[in-house]
Amino acid sequence: MSNMSAPSQSSFCKCCTATVHISEEEVRQLFGSVARIRSLNLATEEEYGRRMQACRACEAFQFGTTCRWCGCLMEIKAKLQASTCPSPAGSRW
Ligand code: SF4
Repeated sequence: MSNMSAPSQSSFCKCCTATVHISEEEVRQLFGSVARIRSLNLATEEEYGRRMQACRACEAFQFGTTCRWCGCLMEIKAKLQASTCPSPAGSRW
């Protein structure tokens, strides 16, 4: 991921120096090329929207991008059809 703006230290991954923020354009580019090449099965737009709505309302959703439980950027994970919510309290989607 590119580091487009200068985010604060708290918006960097705990395990590396990458920012935890991703722009809509970066998501679009990623799924425009990688998904075609690898024939990834993607969630429908409705399912993606439902998943992201659940994440945005979840206390484990950090930095507006990342799940506390799996460490994934949810704007990417939620697009993958086979993805599931890892909440230990029970899957929210
Ligand atoms: S626990 Fe589930 S709903 Fe909450 S941020 Fe993670 S994936 Fe989203």
